[in-house]
Amino acid sequence: MNKAQPQLPRTRHERELAALRELSARVGSDPLLVQASNGNTSIKLDGILWIKASGKWLAHASQEEVLVPVELAEAREAVEHGTEIAKPDVLKNKVRPSIETAMHVVLTRRVVIHVHSVNTIAWAIRLDGPQKLKERLDGLRWKWIPYATSGIPLAQEIEKAVARAQQTDVFILGNHGLVVCGDDCLTAEKLLCEVERRLAIAPRPFPQPDATVLGMIARLSRWRFPDFDPLHALGTDEVSLKILKGGVLYPCQAIFLGRTMPLLPPTLAVSKFRERLSGKDRTSPFAVVERRGVVLNERMTSAQRATLIGLVQVTQRTEESARLRYLNGAEVEKILNGGAYTARRIPWTAGTFPRRGPPGSGEQTRQR
Ligand SMILES: [Zn+2]
Repeated sequence: MNKAQPQLPRTRHERELAALRELSARVGSDPLLVQASNGNTSIKLDGILWIKASGKWLAHASQEEVLVPVELAEAREAVEHGTEIAKPDVLKNKVRPSIETAMHVVLTRRVVIHVHSVNTIAWAIRLDGPQKLKERLDGLRWKWIPYATSGIPLAQEIEKAVARAQQTDVFILGNHGLVVCGDDCLTAEKLLCEVERRLAIAPRPFPQPDATVLGMIARLSRWRFPDFDPLHALGTDEVSLKILKGGVLYPCQAIFLGRTMPLLPPTLAVSKFRERLSGKDRTSPFAVVERRGVVLNERMTSAQRATLIGLVQVTQRTEESARLRYLNGAEVEKILNGGAYTARRIPWTAGTFPRRGPPGSGEQTRQR
């Protein structure tokens, strides 16, 4: 009839998938919710779980295909038994479902949104998080999920919580992030906004960086002065610096930024900075100069940059008095070196966690 009209999605499936893609692009474009390829969304449609593919960015959902179909019944069985699930056509195209697929599989609601919300993480790293959130989330159907490795262990923790309270649609993942569910995209996104509103924390103001010293380092080395001012808080804000020195707070920090970072004293001569930063610390994506600010490795990837920005947003929202739970050595080890173990047990994730790039590349290629 009117051929000039833009083509609208015709079937219910197409409409729902289009809604999920729009939601994914919106959520993925908010750096307070999602950083780089982390975070994932899914919808269950007639026995198929459509979930974000590993390594894809939710923010790109309206420009490229970020969803991958998974047979739900097979996936459920795989979660139960840890057996092969990846479909040959999926593997042929080298598109794999997210490492966090198991979590989406065990949740029965049709739409699931998982984000690394900085406001949620600021609560999820606190030892008193469960108590503090009682008041803030009062009236919502929420559960605190103690930290568990992504994949089967986390899915099992969520399953246990759902078994105790089937209507739960908000999950605070200890040392990790947030999951909300709904029967459709609109309901799930509204719930996400409501949780975000309740958990919002204003970031602390921070002392300005020492542009003279950092500028000299940038001129004399391959390290750069950040183009995003709040990053300096990791060096100039005493509380953030103290938190950072404590260790790894959540998986993406370890995956993209490493276990530790170069920490340089404020009194070091500029020539010594150069020496340090071209030596053993040269592959770190960033370095902190106490009380002066932060410099970035010129080879830093966009994923590392997004993760670092997320990290400073978390530390600037965390009070000095808060007692924090850091990931222990074994947990960090499992995150960084668990690929082989995960691949043996859950083949659909095989290869999604490649090791560090070539020495000196500064590249981190692990995907969520
Ligand atoms: Zn996650």
